[in-house]
Amino acid sequence: MIAKVPDMVKVAALKEAAPRERRIALDPDSARRLLAGGLTVLIESGAGAGAWFSDQDYLDVGAQVLDRATALAEADLIVSVTAPDDDLVGQLRPGQAFLGMLAPLTRPELVSRLAAAGVTAISLDGLPRTLTRAQGMDALSSQASVAGYRAVLLAAEHYDRFFPMLMTAAGTSKPAAVLVLGAGVAGLQAIGTARRLGAVVSGYDVRPASRDEVKSLGAKFIELKSGIAAAGEGGYARELTAEERAAQQAELAEHIARHDIVITTAQVPGRRPPVLVTADVVGRMRPGSVLVDLAASELGGNVEGSVPGETVLTGNGVRVIGAANLPARLSTSASQAYGRNVSALIGHLVADGALVFDPADEIQQGVLITHGGEIVHAGVRAVVSPSPGGPQ
Ligand code: NAD
Repeated sequence: MIAKVPDMVKVAALKEAAPRERRIALDPDSARRLLAGGLTVLIESGAGAGAWFSDQDYLDVGAQVLDRATALAEADLIVSVTAPDDDLVGQLRPGQAFLGMLAPLTRPELVSRLAAAGVTAISLDGLPRTLTRAQGMDALSSQASVAGYRAVLLAAEHYDRFFPMLMTAAGTSKPAAVLVLGAGVAGLQAIGTARRLGAVVSGYDVRPASRDEVKSLGAKFIELKSGIAAAGEGGYARELTAEERAAQQAELAEHIARHDIVITTAQVPGRRPPVLVTADVVGRMRPGSVLVDLAASELGGNVEGSVPGETVLTGNGVRVIGAANLPARLSTSASQAYGRNVSALIGHLVADGALVFDPADEIQQGVLITHGGEIVHAGVRAVVSPSPGGPQ
């Protein structure tokens, strides 16, 4: 008897549709890794151009380069950086899988549409990040790290002085004083980058565990006299109470006003970003100072008055940069890191040449959002279609 050789999973990466998105979900190296694992890789022609990967780069590693409609029709699994837009959702077919950073908790309509279309939706932002075996798949971390690095370069670009102390025949320049608020993945990368550029750096976070991490990078940790400690679940911060928030804002004010550059990265999962820098404090900063708000989004930001994707020049000469989607502005490195995360997760999902969905697997419990026409992720289901009479 001849054993049936299973059809190998066909993984397709398409051109991202979001405006100014220059990343691609698979770089040639990640495509090579999937091919080595026996999978077929399809790339939409031109999809890598924004990250400087040519069609030839993908052909060289053995991927197939196709037009969008063919790649879409043939794929078993579409990999993406961003969530699919309405147009793309309408083109997906039942049984097809879609993997990306879908932010399902904030997009109930998208989740419902994907479930109704019979699409298997896999979201990298649901990954259980503290699991050691999932660390290579952690796209939130890889992209936050890129954002933290890029934020410092953005600040330097808008700061009209040197970052390092420079001693030249024309005199000595003072080093820039940089303050990083929020010392998670992005914040720590920002601290390291600002230090490498020669700035004098301070960091602050509400999680006590961050103190040693900030110090280990050679930065000063800012202790607040109010001693607010807000470690939450899973290594994240919890939301502050109104009193804690007021005390924090008041105490941070004097530190912020003394710095030339302030980079904010504070987030609390599932909540609006906390306001750390009020408009009043921005008004007290010196002319020429720069604020980069990495949390700026349609939900708000860490800096009062920051606008996502825009640089606002205040009346007192402070630039407030609403830093939207910084990983897209370092598209090659961000795509390489994301591609490694994607290929690691696919490696975990594929067995014997097929995608295998196992509800008992801890990683899958985090990333699998819809499957077989249902919303299978309990947390997302509670938000999208709360049970009658249950918690809203
Ligand atoms: P995040 O993006 O949710 O938030 C960024 C930072 O903002 C966090 O450090 C948080 O404490 C801080 N913050 C929130 N509210 C604040 C406030 N009011 N004032 C000041 N700071 C505030 O966090 P993240 O970067 O995704 O990382 C969160 C945690 O998860 C960190 O402890 C990180 O080390 C940990 N982590 C662990 C792993 C792992 O174990 N493999 C992987 C990734 C992240």
